[in-house]
Amino acid sequence: MVAQGIQRDVARDRLRARTPLRCPLCGSELVETIVRDLGGVTADLVWQLHAGRCPEHGWFQAEVISRPPREIFAVHKPFGVARRVIVDGHEVFAFPTVWNNLPPERQRQRVDPFDAQYWQVEKPTASR
Ligand SMILES: [Zn+2]
Repeated sequence: MVAQGIQRDVARDRLRARTPLRCPLCGSELVETIVRDLGGVTADLVWQLHAGRCPEHGWFQAEVISRPPREIFAVHKPFGVARRVIVDGHEVFAFPTVWNNLPPERQRQRVDPFDAQYWQVEKPTASR
């Protein structure tokens, strides 16, 4: 969903890029990874979209804005529209990360936005 309205700018895409993004369903490393640099208004702002495909579970993406992503989205294609996946019989579009579930005072700390520990999905299911 975050990708809608974003201009195509192929020169800013890095293919098979290294990313902390993993499949939120099985934890596997993703293939065909893409990192799109969206640039920032200021030099110290990191703003990127990361996408990749799990051979078994399809495409996922996450947005980095100077902080680790709050959610990993299931998408139809890189930077495309969200798709639903069924987890334990429930429809799920997004998977909250460890970062998302940290208390606010921890989220105010400066952390490396690419620190993989924050990118992990806390619970493999968002069914609530
Ligand atoms: Zn998977």
